[in-house]
Amino acid sequence: MKLLEEKILQDGIVKEGNVLKVDSFLNHQLDIDLFTEMGKEFKRLFADRPVNKILTIEASGIAIACIAAQQFHVPVVFAKKAKSINLEGEMYTTKIESFTHKRTYDVIVAKKFLSADDHILIIDDFLANGCAVEGLIDLIRSAGATVEGVGIAIEKGFQQGGKNLRNKGIRVESLAIVDSMDAATGKIVFREQ
Ligand code: 5GP
Repeated sequence: MKLLEEKILQDGIVKEGNVLKVDSFLNHQLDIDLFTEMGKEFKRLFADRPVNKILTIEASGIAIACIAAQQFHVPVVFAKKAKSINLEGEMYTTKIESFTHKRTYDVIVAKKFLSADDHILIIDDFLANGCAVEGLIDLIRSAGATVEGVGIAIEKGFQQGGKNLRNKGIRVESLAIVDSMDAATGKIVFREQ
């Protein structure tokens, strides 16, 4: 998606440790006109899938998921990072290792919001090693629901998450794929799609 790539080139900052900072339009301050276009693009890409729910993870996936959901006219459920699990019977739970915070979270979704007849589109801001998305897939499978696909704003194609998911037959559509980035020069190269 050209518009997103241009925005990344203009305002993205490449940090040490393979982190792309996009705080000024995607992760902290939010560019809603850009989000609206991203929502339309997700709808175009997954128009053939019978999506009845979008699943994301707090916090930065929520805004993108909500704007995508306006195009699909479906509800959004977000998985919560739990400090302690004391309602296990009523929750699906999994563990997710955070790429940016280098720690592991227990992640939960209430059973009443995921069921076997759900057809789920996963949406998130970034795909790096794939832990977040794998965790969400785990929650969906615990509920016996169907994963219709994964929509990502920015995939870091030099990390393994996207490759691993596609190798498992999961449909992953990323609006921008960064093939390389260099913290010293700030140079960012996108994959042609
Ligand atoms: P993964 O689980 O695929 O390794 O990492 C995905 C999660 O980590 C995303 O939900 C995102 O919040 C965060 N993340 C991973 N890489 C980056 C990055 O380069 N920049 C930012 N801002 N977040 C990232």
